[in-house]
Amino acid sequence: MSPKKPRRVLKLVLTLLTVGIVILGIRAWQVVAPVLGWSIPSFDTEAPLLPPNLEDAPLAVLHFSRTAGFRHEEAIPAATASLEAIARRNGWALYSTENGAVFNAADLARFDVIFGNNITGPNWDEAQKSAFIEWVEDGGGFVGVHGAAGTRYRYWDWYTDTLLGGARFIGHPVSPHLSDARVVVENPQHITVAHFGPSFRHEDEWYSFEASARAAGSHVLATLDEATYTPGEDLAMGADHPIIWIACPGSGRSFYSALGHTAATYARPDHERMLEEAIRWAADRDAPCP
Ligand SMILES: [Zn+2]
Repeated sequence: MSPKKPRRVLKLVLTLLTVGIVILGIRAWQVVAPVLGWSIPSFDTEAPLLPPNLEDAPLAVLHFSRTAGFRHEEAIPAATASLEAIARRNGWALYSTENGAVFNAADLARFDVIFGNNITGPNWDEAQKSAFIEWVEDGGGFVGVHGAAGTRYRYWDWYTDTLLGGARFIGHPVSPHLSDARVVVENPQHITVAHFGPSFRHEDEWYSFEASARAAGSHVLATLDEATYTPGEDLAMGADHPIIWIACPGSGRSFYSALGHTAATYARPDHERMLEEAIRWAADRDAPCP
């Protein structure tokens, strides 16, 4: 054996090790960066061509399910099916897109409600954000479910604090991930939750927030009874754990429900009814807010 051979082997091993570490590093970056908000956001620049007959329907919904962060692969199609059933029943126009460039004044003006189906940000560039704010605060309606508030890093204060009325998400239990818990209806007079009765049981991935949405001026429709599941020490909010609420951004109306991680949520007729009433309420410019 020549004396050079072990050195060559050592060199080869070191090269392979270096390549392995670089590949692992890239993979780790791809996983960690979006969670920490380090990814370089990319925005849509060309608006889709909208159908010509939106104005013929009694109500037009812009269904937006773009995800720049975590994507709810199970919930998004389930919510879509529920929305389609609602729209069909009522003869509403439902336009579904994941193109953020639809957020421009001319296109938004053609809709009564924007439905945020588990959207995770950042989804909008500065001009699109301005169009969104102006449309809502000028009297538009927004309905958001579950992941719409589930972005751990906050990329847009108006969205979190004003549109979603203080939905500063801090996390959800991981073990067990899903729990059955009791949701207490706090405002049985509100059309969106009246049909649930005083309370109902539901299995979900339960979100916790930095503070009660009440602190941000939101009007709580339902809270989560923490005695009926285990949020864990870091995620416990105590006696006031809002889970469904409404906010009144400017002259607009906004409804948010943290329910909906699972497809089963959207198969519940009472949940579908809540979404239907929420869309109807948000679309009604004469509806009182709260
Ligand atoms: Zn979820």
